[in-house]
Amino acid sequence: MQISLIFADLNKRRDKVIRMKRFIRKNILDLEPYSTARDDFQGTGISVWLDANESPYNNGANRYPDPHQKELKQRVSDLMGIAPDSIFIGGAGSDEAIDVAFRIFCEPGADNAVAIAPSYGVYKVAAAINNVELREVLLNNDFSLPVNRILEATDSHTKIIWICSPNNPTGNAFPKEDIRELANRFNGIVVVDEAYADFSEMGSMLAELKDMPNLIVLRTFSKAWGMAGLRAGMAFASPEIIGYFDRVKYPYNMSSLVQEELMRRIDQRTGNQIGEIISERKKMEESLKEASCVKNIYPSDANFLLVKVTDADAIYDYLVQNGIIVRNRSRMPLCDNTLRITIGTPEENDRTISLLQKYKN
Ligand SMILES: *Cc1c(COP(=O)(O)O)cnc(C)c1O
Repeated sequence: MQISLIFADLNKRRDKVIRMKRFIRKNILDLEPYSTARDDFQGTGISVWLDANESPYNNGANRYPDPHQKELKQRVSDLMGIAPDSIFIGGAGSDEAIDVAFRIFCEPGADNAVAIAPSYGVYKVAAAINNVELREVLLNNDFSLPVNRILEATDSHTKIIWICSPNNPTGNAFPKEDIRELANRFNGIVVVDEAYADFSEMGSMLAELKDMPNLIVLRTFSKAWGMAGLRAGMAFASPEIIGYFDRVKYPYNMSSLVQEELMRRIDQRTGNQIGEIISERKKMEESLKEASCVKNIYPSDANFLLVKVTDADAIYDYLVQNGIIVRNRSRMPLCDNTLRITIGTPEENDRTISLLQKYKN
């Protein structure tokens, strides 16, 4: 390659880095990250570790876990086809990634973020905890993405736009063109929360990461992977952005036992019953259409159905009395008289269907 081309390429890359820096809080840019003595000596053949005040007696958990989660990131990298330096893994699920993103980009009391409504509740809670204003933009009546209204809600202090796709609780995934358009037109970070992407045919934004330096994609082991109890979530982004995630996260944010258990389960591909859940979702959709208390079932790309009923509060209580808990979403915008029903086992679904078919308005 010609020298001048190499320089042009370097300059382009440096521009990107510099542009990204504008979105990072100053205290985070200036931060001297916590470092362990181990970082300098890992893999050098040293076998006596008297540096971290751990117990020397091996009981399977006496050593601090790898703060960089190298082995686990390699597994996730092989699984998702994303380079390890573009991966963050949160030990409090993807909820941790949501909080860390606020802390990297949004200056408390000064910056703001924009989210869609209705959507996942944690964006609002994490914004409030970080003293960041969250501007909520109502979805269109058909639950499609109001790209222009979202952009109109932004100003020079808007650092993040939160898009949940497939969206919780509406169940629909947004076309990639819409999200691409948002990311291209917005001068800030776009986070796409793909917690339910495994249940959707819409396709993931992961493939777009290399062309979109301002994109962050969230995934989780909690839903399709069936590991909500382990608390493991992922953020994928450019190595620059992931570098800031690494600085801001607590060094030992995922226990060694959870790292090992995740690797074991990833290797065995356990808990992956996506096909069964999707076919149960279709069964439930077909059967509930016949229930007289059901007015509408919204198309779902997720492992739940949002169902419009005649009287959500009464039907919720009726299900509780029969030992079944669903989520009453009636108080959310655009969700008048709706219940969100998670797809359970075939037996659980059958019981729910039969109760709803029997319900007398
Ligand atoms: C369930 C869910 C998550 C997952 O959170 P974890 O902390 O990874 O368990 C993230 N985003 C949305 C929209 C969800 O519904």
